[in-house]
Amino acid sequence: MNKKVDFIIIGQGIAGTWLAFQLIKQNKTVLIVDERNSNSSSRVAGGIYNPLIPKRQRLAYLAQEIYPSLSNDYQELEQFINEKVLFESPIQYILESQSDYNNWATLSQTEPFIQFVKLKDESLSPNILSPFGVIEILNSGWVNIPLLLDTFSKKIVAPNYFLNQTFDEDLLQTTGDKFQYQDFESNAIVYCVGNQIKALKHLENLTLKPAKGEVLTVQLNETFSNHIPQQGIFMLPINEQTFRIGSTFEWVDLSVEATVKGKTEILHKWQKYYTGDFKILEHKAGIRPSSKDRKPILGKIKPYHNVFVFNGLGSKGVALAPYFSKMLVDNMIHGRAIERDVEMGR
Ligand SMILES: Cc1cc2nc3c(=O)[nH]c(=O)nc-3n(C[C@H](O)[C@H](O)[C@H](O)COP(=O)(O)OP(=O)(O)OC[C@H]3O[C@@H](n4cnc5c(N)ncnc54)[C@H](O)[C@@H]3O)c2cc1C
Repeated sequence: MNKKVDFIIIGQGIAGTWLAFQLIKQNKTVLIVDERNSNSSSRVAGGIYNPLIPKRQRLAYLAQEIYPSLSNDYQELEQFINEKVLFESPIQYILESQSDYNNWATLSQTEPFIQFVKLKDESLSPNILSPFGVIEILNSGWVNIPLLLDTFSKKIVAPNYFLNQTFDEDLLQTTGDKFQYQDFESNAIVYCVGNQIKALKHLENLTLKPAKGEVLTVQLNETFSNHIPQQGIFMLPINEQTFRIGSTFEWVDLSVEATVKGKTEILHKWQKYYTGDFKILEHKAGIRPSSKDRKPILGKIKPYHNVFVFNGLGSKGVALAPYFSKMLVDNMIHGRAIERDVEMGR
């Protein structure tokens, strides 16, 4: 028998998850189709959110609009899935020189940085070299994305549905204004497939500039929870003595293979500031779905009125997904405009 849903969502990374949540909040029903790819960007990512780009001494894109309310956004999602996934852990950015310190001594007292930065002298561990001190970045932390994705999909029960499979375009039929996929009928379809846009004919006009990234999971002989040291490479405490270390940016080799080159680069940069012993537990690679202008891509795929896309989250999916999924849902349901600089086809 036919099951009716309002939206079919293809892909359940951080984009598809947030989109589904925003739709369910608006009393819409969804079918999610996701093939559970262990190398998807969302499953490889560190999951860090950071309102600052300290090296360039500027705020991240939409920092003031997005970051102060981010943990509240995730708390709402945590209530829905009944699982804690966001951890407020300040990033400790290690300053590189005395002039870096002097600059931040001034900037940290100045708008707009004052609400995001505190200058500190202490080191988290004798194994972390920080002779010029650190800045602590407020409104920063990390999200355990794989845990979020897995618990969210388990919460998808009738009248919502989840299919763990590759979306087969040949099975998608259009009748008038409706889509039929297997035994599901829907009014609209939204593609949230990250970098895997190539084989999908609705997405043939979507262009990304993907960036491969590699990360290591390591075990240390020490623990220092609740802070994320960073200088080029982040050092994210996952639990006890297990840390995620990364990441690299690569635009030519876009395979999902982890490489010796990637590992060497991570270790070289990390060991400039970390001197302790470690054991490598895992090495992974994924492809960030970045756009050419580094902004998200959302909205209607022309000439269709009921086919949509949510993509281009690049290296900031954790922070951008809540804000822009809401913008897309407001557009799809209430006809509100999508900001021009993120609109599909800009
Ligand atoms: C090494 C690395 C480190 C990163 N670190 C961070 C970080 O610290 N903080 C941060 O915010 N971001 C980080 N990112 C970026 C972040 O991962 C992305 O912004 C985000 O995950 C993109 O989410 P998405 O849902 O758009 O795409 P994806 O995560 O790629 O999700 C797409 C989903 O669609 C599914 N799919 C695709 N095609 C099909 C199909 N035909 N049928 C069925 N299912 C399909 C895939 O299986 C997948 O589940 C990092 C990325 C990498 C690679």
